Amino acid sequence: MNTTFYDIDPSRIRFALHGGAGELGPDAGPQDAQRAALSRIAAAAQTLLLDGGSALDAVTLAVQQLEDCPLFNAGIGAVLNRDGQPELDAAIMRGEDRGCGAVAGVSRVGSPIQLARAIMEQTPHVFFAGTGAEQIAEQLGLPMTTAEHFITPQRLRQLAAAKKAGAIVLDHDAAFGTVGAVARDARGHLAAATSTGGLTNKLPGRIGDTPVIGVGTFADDSSCAISCTGTGEAFIRAGFANAVHARIAWNDWTLPAACDAALEAVKHYEGRGGCIAIGCDGAIVTAFNSQCLYRAWVGADGVLQVAILAEDGKP
Ligand code: ASP
Repeated sequence: MNTTFYDIDPSRIRFALHGGAGELGPDAGPQDAQRAALSRIAAAAQTLLLDGGSALDAVTLAVQQLEDCPLFNAGIGAVLNRDGQPELDAAIMRGEDRGCGAVAGVSRVGSPIQLARAIMEQTPHVFFAGTGAEQIAEQLGLPMTTAEHFITPQRLRQLAAAKKAGAIVLDHDAAFGTVGAVARDARGHLAAATSTGGLTNKLPGRIGDTPVIGVGTFADDSSCAISCTGTGEAFIRAGFANAVHARIAWNDWTLPAACDAALEAVKHYEGRGGCIAIGCDGAIVTAFNSQCLYRAWVGADGVLQVAILAEDGKP
């Protein structure tokens, strides 16, 4: 399948974002604050796309705003590692030419997704980690901060509970999660971006699927754009996004069928979670094998929808 367009046609606009997948506890409540945040941020991205903005700018804007929202596991309010530190991962990819940038294990960069994009646009490389990544951010003049900037009391409590239980916890089990966005712009170009703090009580230095291009984040105008959330180790073993891309590009699978098959592989490797994806044909998928996926999307009808549970509906 190859449907690349270059003229402007607003009817091509599609957008989806997620704020993580997982299980809602019995006391979770209606999640009004999360729904409002997802709606506000998706609306901002939709406006940008309707104003003629690129898919790349739309996913950057959405993920940056989600990083700044303490309700989700990225940027401010990211989960903490075993030593009580945030170690943030992010990646971005442009479907037009497979340009991409990724960053892992940073704690002093104001916006990890901004750094991922700067790596893509301003360096000859794709993937930076740790202190080297922070040095590049400084050299590129990006806003820097301190680890404390990202730490919230709720995350300190969550870490204490995980340590008490002796567990490395998927953040979604506490009903917050990794963030990501996918878009198709009026020219037909695709883009994807994802940002996360990873898993609560993770070992220092651990990196999940999020910043791994072709696993947690991927875009190619000839197939689809994908952003994942869930048990990173299982998504890596499943080669998630590349598996979806390959089925579409080489075997003519539909996007929903390809995402479902990749999620089956995640389950096989004892993982849980989900993905949001937009196909080059304009199909939108929000798929998950956990109880919930915090999500919002704008489909062919241009109507913004927000959903958390399976029964809230899908595109
Ligand atoms: N996939 C992320 C990771 O394993 C976690 C998440 O989606 O919340 O780092």
